[in-house]
Amino acid sequence: MVHVILSIDTEGDNLWADQRGRSFDNIEALGEFQTFCEGLGLRPTYLVAHEVIADEKARDTILRLEKNGNCEIGSHLHAWLTPPPYAPLDELGTYPFLHEYPQEMRAAKLERLTEDLEDVLGRRPTSYRGGRWSIEAFTMGRLESLGYAVDTTVTPFVSWIRTLGAAEGGPNCTTAPHTPYYPHSADPMRPGAMRILEVPTSHRPPLRATDGLYRWAGSALGGHRWAWSVVGRGLGVLIGKVISPNPAVTPTEGLLRVAGRILQEEPAVLNLCIHSSELVAGGAPWIREASDAKAVRQRFRDVVGFLSSRCEWRALTLSEYAREQGTSGGR
Ligand SMILES: [Zn+2]
Repeated sequence: MVHVILSIDTEGDNLWADQRGRSFDNIEALGEFQTFCEGLGLRPTYLVAHEVIADEKARDTILRLEKNGNCEIGSHLHAWLTPPPYAPLDELGTYPFLHEYPQEMRAAKLERLTEDLEDVLGRRPTSYRGGRWSIEAFTMGRLESLGYAVDTTVTPFVSWIRTLGAAEGGPNCTTAPHTPYYPHSADPMRPGAMRILEVPTSHRPPLRATDGLYRWAGSALGGHRWAWSVVGRGLGVLIGKVISPNPAVTPTEGLLRVAGRILQEEPAVLNLCIHSSELVAGGAPWIREASDAKAVRQRFRDVVGFLSSRCEWRALTLSEYAREQGTSGGR
C-alpha cells in the first residue's frame, strides 16, 4: 500500500517577489483547489503561516477548510514574519532562518504561531513545516513539547547550505532517512526516540543506485557552502539532480520517476509538496500564466493516474499518517 501525502506551505502571494507576504489572493483559490483534490482522492495538509491567519479574509478561508474535514490545517513558520518581533533579525531586510534566532526567540515564535492557530481552529495544530526548510534539534524539541505529532521539514538528499538567511545557510539533509522516522533529540537528521514523527518530503535522486553516493558526498561536504556548490552541482551533472516532489517545479516525467522509486520502498510514502501561491497564475515567478497553473493541475492528475495504474494507494493527511504509525507500533 502506498500512502500519499500532499503538504502545502500556505502563505502570501509570490514570496519570491515580496517576502513580506503582504497580499493573500492565492488563499482565496484554496477552496476550489480543495475540491479539485477531493476529485482526485487526495487529502491535503495546509501548513499555514502566521501572516495568513493575521489577515481576516484569509483566516476565514482557512477556517472553512478546517471545517471541510477532508484536509488538515497545520503550521508553517516564516521566522521574519512571525511574532513576537525581534528587530535585530526581523528588520534586516533579509529572510533569516528560524535557526539563526536566539533559542528563546525560536521558542516564543513557535509558541505564538501554535497558539494563534489554536485560537482560529479551536484545537492545536499537530503538523509542522519550517519556513525555508529550517529545522534543528532545539526546534524539533520545542515542536514535540508543543504537542506536534509530525514534522515535514526534512528534504532527504538535499543540502540548503548555499541558501542564505541573515548570515547562515540552510540545513544539510543529505544524510537523513528518506522514509518516515522518529528523530534523535540531538540531531533531527538521524533516527532516535523522539515522540514526534518526521515524514520527509519525497526528494529523490533519479536513480536509486546513486543514493549512497549522494549521502556519502553530503555527509562530508554538504555542510560547507563552497565545497557543496562545486560537489553538489557536479553530482547533478554526473548522476542527475535530486528531483523535487513539487508539481509546480517538476514536470510529469520527474514526478513519475519519484513515484516509481517510491513504489519500491518500504514503507512507501509519497510526500508531494507545493506552495499555495504556486497554484494560481502570477503566484510564483515560474507560474506566470493561467496555462502554467493549469499544467500544475495536470501533473497532479498524471501522478494520481500513474499510481492508480500501478498500485493500491491511499491518501492521508500528515497527522492521520502519524496517528496510524503510532497505533500500529511504527516506532
Ligand atoms: Zn514558506
